[in-house]
Amino acid sequence: MKTLDIEIKNPTGLHARPAKTFVNLAKQYDSKVAVFHNDKKANGKSLISLLTLGVESGSQIHIEVEGEDEDQALKAIKAEIEAGLGEGEHLSPPEQVQVEATAPQAAAPEMQATAENQFRGISASPGFAIGEIFQFKKPDLVIEEKASGRKEEEKNRLYEAIKTAKSQLKKLNQQMLDSGATQEAAIFDVHIELLSDEEILAEIEQQLDSGQSAAKSFQYVIDQKSKFLAGLSDPVLSGRAADLYDVGYRVLRIMLGEEVASIELPDRPVIISARDLSPSDTVSMDASKVLGFCTSEGGPTSHTAIIARALGIPAVVGINDEILGVASGTQVILDGKEGFVLVDPTTAEIEQAHQDQQDEITRQEQMKAIAADPAVTQDGHRVEVVANIGGAEEAKKALQMGAEGVGLLRTEFLFLERTTPPTEQEQVEVYSTILKTMGEQPVVVRTLDVGGDKPISYIHTPQEENPFLGLRGIRLGLANLKILREQLTALLKSAQHGNLHIMFPMISDVDELSRALDVVAEVRAEQSAEAVKVGIMIEVPSAALLADKFAQKVDFFSIGTNDLTQYTLATDRMHGSLSKNLDGLHPAVLRLIAQTVEGAHKHGKWVGVCGELGSDPVAVPILLGLCVDELSVSVPAIPEVKAIIRGMDFKNAQKLAAKALECSTAAQVRELVKENQV
Ligand code: PEP
Ligand code: MG
Repeated sequence: MKTLDIEIKNPTGLHARPAKTFVNLAKQYDSKVAVFHNDKKANGKSLISLLTLGVESGSQIHIEVEGEDEDQALKAIKAEIEAGLGEGEHLSPPEQVQVEATAPQAAAPEMQATAENQFRGISASPGFAIGEIFQFKKPDLVIEEKASGRKEEEKNRLYEAIKTAKSQLKKLNQQMLDSGATQEAAIFDVHIELLSDEEILAEIEQQLDSGQSAAKSFQYVIDQKSKFLAGLSDPVLSGRAADLYDVGYRVLRIMLGEEVASIELPDRPVIISARDLSPSDTVSMDASKVLGFCTSEGGPTSHTAIIARALGIPAVVGINDEILGVASGTQVILDGKEGFVLVDPTTAEIEQAHQDQQDEITRQEQMKAIAADPAVTQDGHRVEVVANIGGAEEAKKALQMGAEGVGLLRTEFLFLERTTPPTEQEQVEVYSTILKTMGEQPVVVRTLDVGGDKPISYIHTPQEENPFLGLRGIRLGLANLKILREQLTALLKSAQHGNLHIMFPMISDVDELSRALDVVAEVRAEQSAEAVKVGIMIEVPSAALLADKFAQKVDFFSIGTNDLTQYTLATDRMHGSLSKNLDGLHPAVLRLIAQTVEGAHKHGKWVGVCGELGSDPVAVPILLGLCVDELSVSVPAIPEVKAIIRGMDFKNAQKLAAKALECSTAAQVRELVKENQV
């Protein structure tokens, strides 16, 4: 038996999504996997069992693995936990960034509210809603049936119902994927996983053995587990009780022959109040009748919050229980950005809220209406605004939001969460689709950027003390030439469909770049392919410092400020407590950006910025002033970033950037931008 004691650093502990990643990985091995926490033991191959441990962020767990492949299993589990169990830096924080990006603090209108009739909660989705409350409560299910007495028959009923529920959930998952909401789609994946859970199914079968009917056995086990989860002190974990209840409710309705009803809303638009809303409640509502959501439970990562943001519906969650006492029909004002609900507002307050709402809608509409136009400063300097995307669906969205191309296609989505690499043909299909979608616009495809921090089961990587300083990015590609060559082959085969640019991640040394370029040349010769533009990410200080050398070998640079900041400030971007202080506007990072631009322009090469800094409204004037040629930003941020650029004067931005380079801290740079309109 092999054991491991390790800390769970995920910001919300071992909640549904990371637990699912753990379970899926554990299931790939034959060995038994047991997880211990606070005297409780869980089956590491059962999602629900793992969730009931209630592992909070910063807690230690003890893992025991026993079986023939115990060494590999434990090694893989350790690496995956260290990598954040599928929750890299792009999960919860970007949701916040997107919200801010579409409604920046500085320009958004404000509403004053009085204290007594105001219920404060957590801002979950920005925007105003003004209207009447509709209290939503799910009807209870009454099970009166008797067991047939034939266990096999009951078992068949149970598994048939589970099968139907899974196919419904797959459809909901697809519905979300089709609308580009990949993270939201993952919620329904978790539901499907719960219905395949070893422990739940074993306990239901035990109930069936004792002569209970399928529906009663199922309800009993789901109730027990939901109650246990609901009682956990961590709000995120206790919030998962809603998932289990939701999925259980679905299966029971199927067993009882009832349709999974969509929520009946009144004819007029309303603001829904509820204890919590399940993902399927939220998705099955007629969104045109929903002005807003307010719930007494849930946090910013609750499903209500995530789905409300995806649907663009204002929402406040985690309000005091008193909100549930506000009767249907009561007038309220909901401010999703500030996170409060104002009950029985005065006429003046309603008028003010309508005005604020209108101003905000107008502002958003104005920005979206001209999102397709180029971003040119007041004094005629043009900056390309392109999109960071992670798949084909996002390419379509990017175009609608005014993207002038793709500045970063993260290809990891094709490689992660699977046990074998994608085939060349699979890759050709995805790259071709994206290139066709973008037409003549440039599409910068980054080669696979995984490694120590994002391990892949089918690529062997040694155990590393410092994975961020280890075999990641291009280093892993050069160590696994088969995978790199296959990806380059697929890219060159797709090139005919659009304006392909290939980009290498994590380049730190000129010789390393030469080796990568040799591989491109070899693959090109094999394929007799036309030349395509090749560039590198500048995300390691050595690459920024030697930019003039690198610029002689490639066509373009794209600055990865996320990694460049962590390497410059020697602060792990995933560090539980330190990472919140990481700021790409640090003057040390800005000096490296300035040096990169200088090195590139000296040799006539262009420079983009594809790290999160480009989507930050405060950073846009500085980046422009440092003369970067392109900003590649998250899709929802495109209209706003373009609007900021159009309102600026390039010469003033350059003066501001020069001052920023002389600052001592990131806070000083932020202050400087706020004090100076450019
Ligand atoms: C970056 O490091 O800024 C970047 C864009 O790459 P990633 O976030 O994927 O590491
Ligand atoms: Mg990076």
